[in-house]
Amino acid sequence: AYEELLQYRSMASFSADGCAIEIAGNIGKPEDVDMVLNAGGDGVGLFRTEFLYMGRQELPSEEEQFQAYKNVLEKMQGKPTIVRTLDIGGDKHLPYLKLPAEMNPFLGYRAIRISLTQHDIFREQLRALLRAGVYGHLKIMFPMIATLDEFLRAKAILLEEQQHLKNNGYLVAENIEIGIMIEIPSAAIIADIFAKEVDFFSIGTNDLIQYTLAADRMNENVSYLYQPYHPAVLRLIKNVIVAAHQQGKWVGMCGEMAADEIAIPILLGLGLNEFSMSASSILKTRAHIAKLSKQQSKLHIERILLLSTADEVKEYVKRHLISP
Ligand code: PEP
Ligand code: MG
Repeated sequence: AYEELLQYRSMASFSADGCAIEIAGNIGKPEDVDMVLNAGGDGVGLFRTEFLYMGRQELPSEEEQFQAYKNVLEKMQGKPTIVRTLDIGGDKHLPYLKLPAEMNPFLGYRAIRISLTQHDIFREQLRALLRAGVYGHLKIMFPMIATLDEFLRAKAILLEEQQHLKNNGYLVAENIEIGIMIEIPSAAIIADIFAKEVDFFSIGTNDLIQYTLAADRMNENVSYLYQPYHPAVLRLIKNVIVAAHQQGKWVGMCGEMAADEIAIPILLGLGLNEFSMSASSILKTRAHIAKLSKQQSKLHIERILLLSTADEVKEYVKRHLISP
């Protein structure tokens, strides 16, 4: 079966009825980009930059980061590469960044919340990114955005650094698209408002599911509540995609759900533009989508969104949308 999958390496990503989509890879370390390229990924949908900061005793310098981002962008040869700014806190910690112990780390001081208070770290990362952007097709996104104000503040800082670099004679990428992760229900619900301000969305279902069902994504005892096909999750995702498309904006998904064989026909029918996943899932997903009709999936969306439970959704998709 692997031989069969290999034929998809050099193919573009299309549904059975000829609709183009993008299948991209998620990376942590810059080296991971090789696996995405080997699988014929259409881009990088999520570069989790926290790995550049972890497993060491001091902050990576701007220069070090610049080299890492440049390296990835050059290897991607013009394919879109979405870099997420630092998403530390929650379960991820840095020895040199003392964070207070918290009762609820996943509801606490993490990601953009840290970036918007510890400006030095944020600005340094943004400078490295803006300089590296010259070497490829860079898009920047902010993690854990809950309010419009957070996005506007983060974007203002980015534009300030861009101007500052230019004033100092640096070559910087000019028209970088700036987007947000949709991984907090508040952002998913007011996606129409965000859609007027951002260039793109990427739906982070790993967190979106845990926050929607109030079920810790790492707690075995509540894992039964961690339901990607829960109608509430699907309705949030639909809301995000519809809002984005109404403003002519692009939507990707970089949570595990993007590689889930039951979720894929639903996401395709909803019009998701990009599916981003670990490199090892790219070929399998491209083969799966090549056998699905987007039009057909679209016809079933209304009914799927009226179902009551995750199990009903799963049964429905298996019966109507996935050929045996
Ligand atoms: C997500 O939350 O879906 C996501 C992609 O980010 P992470 O898994 O790094 O939290
Ligand atoms: Mg997340």
